Amino acid sequence: MSEPQFFDEGCLIAVLTTQAMGRGSGALDYRAPEGGCALGAFVEVPLGPRKLVGVVWGPGQGDYDLAKVRPVYRVLDAAPMREELRSFLARAAAYTLTPLPAMLRLATRAPGLGDPPGMRKIYRRGAGEPDKMTAARAKVLAALSDYGDLAFTLKELAEMSGVGTSVVKGLVAQGAVREEESPRDLPYPRLDPDLPGKALTQDQAAGAGQLAEAVGSEAYGTTLLRGVTGSGKTEVYLEAVAAALRSGRQALVLLPEIALTVEFLTRVEARFGARPAEWHSGATMTERRRIWRMVGAGDVQLVIGARSALFLPFQNLGLIVVDEEHDTSYKQEEGVLYNARDMAVLRASICGAQVVLASATPSLESWANAQAGRYARLELTARFGPAVMPQMRAIDMRAESLPSDRWISGVLQQEVTKRLELGEQSLLFINRRGYAPITLCRACGHQVGCDHCDARLVEHRFLKRLVCHQCGESKPMPELCPSCGVEGRMAAVGPGVERLGEEATALFPEARIATLSSDLYGSARALKAQIEEIAEGAADVIIGTQLVAKGHNFPNLTLVGVIDADLGLQGSDLRAAERTFQLMRQVAGRAGRVERPGVALMQTYQPEHPVIRAILAGDEERFWTAEAREREAAGVPPYGRMAGIILSGGDVGQVFDAGNLLARHDGALRAVGAQVFGPAPAPIARVRGRHRVRLLVKAEKSVPLQSALAAWVAPLPLKGDLRLAIDIDPQSFY
Ligand code: ADP
Ligand code: ZN
Repeated sequence: MSEPQFFDEGCLIAVLTTQAMGRGSGALDYRAPEGGCALGAFVEVPLGPRKLVGVVWGPGQGDYDLAKVRPVYRVLDAAPMREELRSFLARAAAYTLTPLPAMLRLATRAPGLGDPPGMRKIYRRGAGEPDKMTAARAKVLAALSDYGDLAFTLKELAEMSGVGTSVVKGLVAQGAVREEESPRDLPYPRLDPDLPGKALTQDQAAGAGQLAEAVGSEAYGTTLLRGVTGSGKTEVYLEAVAAALRSGRQALVLLPEIALTVEFLTRVEARFGARPAEWHSGATMTERRRIWRMVGAGDVQLVIGARSALFLPFQNLGLIVVDEEHDTSYKQEEGVLYNARDMAVLRASICGAQVVLASATPSLESWANAQAGRYARLELTARFGPAVMPQMRAIDMRAESLPSDRWISGVLQQEVTKRLELGEQSLLFINRRGYAPITLCRACGHQVGCDHCDARLVEHRFLKRLVCHQCGESKPMPELCPSCGVEGRMAAVGPGVERLGEEATALFPEARIATLSSDLYGSARALKAQIEEIAEGAADVIIGTQLVAKGHNFPNLTLVGVIDADLGLQGSDLRAAERTFQLMRQVAGRAGRVERPGVALMQTYQPEHPVIRAILAGDEERFWTAEAREREAAGVPPYGRMAGIILSGGDVGQVFDAGNLLARHDGALRAVGAQVFGPAPAPIARVRGRHRVRLLVKAEKSVPLQSALAAWVAPLPLKGDLRLAIDIDPQSFY
């Protein structure tokens, strides 16, 4: 049965708004407005005293007196949401057990969606000449002639010329400057897929051909594009983008937020002759609105974006690339808990698009999908040009006798010194922000913790504060121990990136040392700018956290020292080994990118640990096979299904009671053979003053887990401030 595509004025329609209504699906009945409205139209509707944005979702369901149903206020001036996106939102909501209105919010995250583009005045050189030339007037005309025929706003032009706006107005009156009306949303320049790209190697060309052919099929398919860092994966998938653009379809490239660099955009611009649209958290509201509207009008060919770009209203999406597909930042851990990589595959399968998952170190999930034949596989084995993979070696820390406040071994120190003499860069990597992870009173042994969370405070010497990495609370470094009151005995224990920077400065006094950590820089933009300067040679020794592992090129880097290779192996996370393996490979991949071979040294106390050995041997296939076997035996993802349940609230007793209630009434789960574990205090048992309790559900792969979970939690009364969140396929277990 096909749904009507248009609703005449006055008939009953269901509108999905961005506001959750209790636990229902969220669509409410309204009367179609004057002139009717299309299925999928964006509309504004009344809800109590408020006005909300909504989407016409289908025929009305209720059995009401039509005269009493409130009418839609107006239809917004935006292309209706396509069937493809509506069904994507519905299926993503069902998969993640998210109320549909919250899903719709992700797809409407731009202000003033439906407003027609405003007009604004712009100024360019006119035909006339001023009657009298003053110095100020000459500056304005010079600025304009510098830019040929470009037009500027009044403010821009005045600022560029260093004059007041009245000077420009004066020139307008004389005809020397022309004032025009222009729509606020400037169109995006056309990208040209037929500009010559780089000459590809044989391997790369074969890969590009395979992807272009897949895109040409105009059907769904996923390809895992695997290749060591520097093998040219980007070059290859840009050819898939070119193929999509040639056939008039839109393309989306998803990147982890931090990898969305000027360097990357410049590369895309070089390939296609113009800048693509860029969607990220730093984009201004006006910019977001412009992209959202133009993507919906089919006027944007290519979007480069962070994970939420997946919810843009593409008209004709032919390709989604997920670069660094293993990156944990694709999983949104707050609000709607979704994994953008998996949702990209879902969206593509609905709209008949191709997906390319690119990585040097794929997730075990994607590796297993490729093994099982669900994904096509594409491998680039060699690095481009003369660069080779770095040599990897372990430094056995048991044989080094370092004082307790030092972390750089003698072997590593010598290697750095050698690089300094050669004028090459070294990277010392530690995956810990701040100065020291523990602040301890030497008199009583007290460790300073957060008042609101179950976490230690981390000293950030740069900020001169102790900071909670869970909730962000901070306080000044105490002079007196908060527990015993003794003065001057507070001590830093353990290394963080700042402290390592201090040690390096002492060991290499002549070197230029740059410490890179997200919290040393005000903004992602400032950090990216800093990384680019360093890549160009502004530092000799780079001290960094995992930020530097994400896709930056350091052409002069030939040594990577991993300070604590064991750090990721601790803890109870089922993906600990996988994460460590990926991170170490990525970090090592930073070295020796161009003509000089690199060396990666890993300081470890467990050189015979299987993960460390697999990394050193560079034997990926062996690592994945062994890891897959263990997970399969344990029945955990990707060979089994898991869901996390997080209950939180201000009253610890109430939160546990709710957890116990769920655990006891698990009939709905048992009916499908699923097991529930817990309740247990979450590893971080308190965040922002809320107590957290977790349950973990495990089931076999084939089980319809979502419906069982929904039936299971539905009867739980959520009294007071008690909250329940369900995390399907949990990535982190905090
Ligand atoms: P990856 O995405 O696999 O890390 P890139 O596509 O970024 O690899 O390639 C690494 C470097 O090598 C880049 O600077 C890229 O421009 C260069 N490169 C790769 N392939 C070619 C090619 N065929 N011709 C010229 N330069 C290339
Ligand atoms: Zn805290």
